[in-house]
Amino acid sequence: MNNSPTQFSTKLIHAGEPHPRINGAVTMPIFQSSTFEYAGEEGYDNVRYIRLNNTPNHLALHQKLAALENAEAALVTSSGMAAISTSLLTVLKNGDHLLAQDCLYGGTNTFITSDFAKFEITYDFIDAENPDEWKKKLKPNTKAIYCEAMTNPLLQVANLKAVVAFAKEHNLVSLIDNTFASPVNFRPAEHGFDLSLHSATKYLNGHTDIVAGAIIGKKELIEKITHSLNHLGGSLDPHAAFLLHRGMKTLSLRVHFQNESALKIAQYLEQHPKVAKVNYPGLQSNKSYSRAKELFNGNSGMLSFELRGNVSDAEKFMKRLSLPIIAPSLGGVETLITRPVTTSHAGMKKENRERLGITDTLIRLSVGIEATEDLIEDMERALGVS
Ligand SMILES: *Cc1c(COP(=O)(O)O)cnc(C)c1O
Repeated sequence: MNNSPTQFSTKLIHAGEPHPRINGAVTMPIFQSSTFEYAGEEGYDNVRYIRLNNTPNHLALHQKLAALENAEAALVTSSGMAAISTSLLTVLKNGDHLLAQDCLYGGTNTFITSDFAKFEITYDFIDAENPDEWKKKLKPNTKAIYCEAMTNPLLQVANLKAVVAFAKEHNLVSLIDNTFASPVNFRPAEHGFDLSLHSATKYLNGHTDIVAGAIIGKKELIEKITHSLNHLGGSLDPHAAFLLHRGMKTLSLRVHFQNESALKIAQYLEQHPKVAKVNYPGLQSNKSYSRAKELFNGNSGMLSFELRGNVSDAEKFMKRLSLPIIAPSLGGVETLITRPVTTSHAGMKKENRERLGITDTLIRLSVGIEATEDLIEDMERALGVS
């Protein structure tokens, strides 16, 4: 297409769409065909087959995702974990070493700590605030550095510029899990990251109805990861690809609204006498405030907070709410609420959680697209009952 859109919200609608339109269809149809008639393709990876991630549904998504983050290439996968595990197993081989941020998504943390040994890959966790420590942990066989745009559930923003600079200086592949920020708020390729990973289950799809993943970044790396994915098999089903494609078109509208709504809710909670602490990088009181302001367009719909009182007070508050649904996961149109200790961080040892600041009473909120006033009113009611 020689008339490529430059604005983010226009790319969401038009980037990667087939030209000419398929039989005039305005919306990308679902190609529910496992295999395609042979048309002289050369090489295994070019044969058209769903597992090889090359149906028209996959190709359109790859172009759209790459355009959104101003990156060279992209690849969709069957889940966020498929994106993460396939990328790490492509970038690292036996004998290699990884530096990884110390507060990772539970599934990623478990993959590194329990599965890496089988592949003879070693790792060290690093404090993302302390580049001097990274240097101490660097080894001759260190090949990559891995971090997250915003940590879960405390919403801390690592020193992302330093991560990229460190990777370049020591010739490491830099990977970032950009799920929480979404491409609306942060585009890693623009800052020099090699690979951006997503659980597309969350903001990208946004409707809590599929599991999917995405890998966005340097063309050369995406090609290598595609070969691994073709063997490991974590490809995306065309039906899920269609839903992701449809969900993504409203990404900008949803996330801009969620950025604003979460900020208002964080400000409301911060001034409430029954609330002890609020974690949201959009609050001026937050220690990531200026860094987030410099790097991000907004701070997402994710926040966490602690009420004054004990676990039972936190549980009672959550049950009294009528709009937020008590459920894990995030980034959808419905507001979801959890206590991370019972869900996302249940697998982590209590002493490790406490070292990171994840207390038993901490509550995490994923703000949906309901009216902010209704959510605040609901919280006011639930907090008012003693
Ligand atoms: C949910 C999530 C994942 C895993 O994604 P799935 O789609 O559930 O496999 C990875 N990273 C982050 C930050 C997540 O929130």
